Amino acid sequence: MITRHWRRRHNLYKLVGSRCRSCGRVFYPYSQRCIYCGSREVEQARLEGDARLVSYSIVYSVSDEAKYEAPVILGMVDIGGVKVIAELTDVSPGEVEAGMSLEPVLRRVTVNGESGLIYYAVKFRPRLGGSGSGGD
Ligand SMILES: [Zn+2]
Repeated sequence: MITRHWRRRHNLYKLVGSRCRSCGRVFYPYSQRCIYCGSREVEQARLEGDARLVSYSIVYSVSDEAKYEAPVILGMVDIGGVKVIAELTDVSPGEVEAGMSLEPVLRRVTVNGESGLIYYAVKFRPRLGGSGSGGD
C-alpha cells in the first residue's frame, strides 16, 4: 500500500486523471478502472485549465489525527470541466466563496513514523493575484 501511494505521488502532483475510452468521461485521481462505467479501457489524462471552486462544505468534525487542522474545508473544484473533490488550504471559512479561482498545491498530509515515508496530497488554495503574479 505504501509503495502504491509512492508510485502515484507523481500523478497526484501533476493532476493526472483518467480518460475512459469507452464512455469518454474524465475523472480524477487516476484509476485503471472507469468510475462511471467500469471499463478498463482507461488512459491517463492531464487535467488542464483554470481551477474554480464550484461549491464547498466546512467540516468541523474530523478524526483525532487531523484535529489540529479543523475545520477542514472540502471543495468541489472544476478543472477544465472535470469535477474534483479536494481539501482547500490557505483559506479560512470566512474567506472561502464559490466561484473563486484556485490553484493546486502539494501538501504533506501524514508522516509514517516507522518507515519515515511522507504522504502527500494535492490541495487547492486561492490563486493569488489572478494572473500568475505568484505568492509566498
Ligand atoms: Zn467509462
